[in-house]
Amino acid sequence: MSESRFYKIDGNTYIKTTDKENNPLDLDSEEKIITQVGNYLDSVSTVKIKNERDKTAENIEAINGLDGLLKKEILNLGVSAENIRPNIVETIHFLSEEDFCNFIPRAQEIKVGAASSAARGNILICPERFSSEAQIYKALLHEMVHAQSLRILKMGDGMQNYSVEKLGYKNNSFQGLNEAITDLTVFEIIKNNRDVLKNMIGLSDDEFKKIEKNLYPYCPLVEKLVDEIAEQKQESREDVWRSFERGLFSGEIMHLRDIENLKGEGALRLIASLGYSQENDKKVFDYFSVEEANKKELSKYYKQENLEKAA
Ligand SMILES: [Zn+2]
Repeated sequence: MSESRFYKIDGNTYIKTTDKENNPLDLDSEEKIITQVGNYLDSVSTVKIKNERDKTAENIEAINGLDGLLKKEILNLGVSAENIRPNIVETIHFLSEEDFCNFIPRAQEIKVGAASSAARGNILICPERFSSEAQIYKALLHEMVHAQSLRILKMGDGMQNYSVEKLGYKNNSFQGLNEAITDLTVFEIIKNNRDVLKNMIGLSDDEFKKIEKNLYPYCPLVEKLVDEIAEQKQESREDVWRSFERGLFSGEIMHLRDIENLKGEGALRLIASLGYSQENDKKVFDYFSVEEANKKELSKYYKQENLEKAA
């Protein structure tokens, strides 16, 4: 029988073995290799990058603070503590402008200053690229949500030969949906902890407004769907949104069927196709009657998206 097995590596990370037909290993050897892969993944995410800056005491305090708020949010969604990745802080690396661009060549053309790698499990950030502390930490929190999202890696034929099969909602599709739910989760955390964040990262009321406007172009579409699903199912908006948010960390996707129930067959396929081509996205926006203004945001997104892919 060709069946792949799942091994839990750490908190949110699972490794899927290759199909049995292509997998010559017996169970014992397989488990040994999985342990090695786990150790490798641990070290590759936390290993220092050449020339990376030491984090200041303030950096560490802010990151720990954000990490705590994020974990609290995930627990409140009903995800169990053992499915939360324990060590995020050491996977974050502060780089200079030059080193950030060396690592991510496309960053020379693009303004974005933070990126995460699902394969390496680390986050790179260039503080000089942001106009304020609050913007730095908002971008960091976005990457931290990616880093806490359910991660499934698929093993290849060697210890370091694996590929990312799924991160949050994203597999070969659902890129746009994954980004929107990630950003809306960031916004949820910021909204619910405004006073704490004022002290923690110097988030002023003006900054809060800027962050509020700084959402991905797919966010309004997701919010619209949540509203309409809530109305159709006679449930609270909060409950419907929470199922979308929880899916990022739990991998549950049953609630996505509500999109088909709402809009008819084929609607989910359209949502899955968001985030891969600007032309297609515009058509999907038309289908779901998303406001014209959001189409303009797409070009910004596409520049940024290329950066994330390059990381
Ligand atoms: Zn992202």
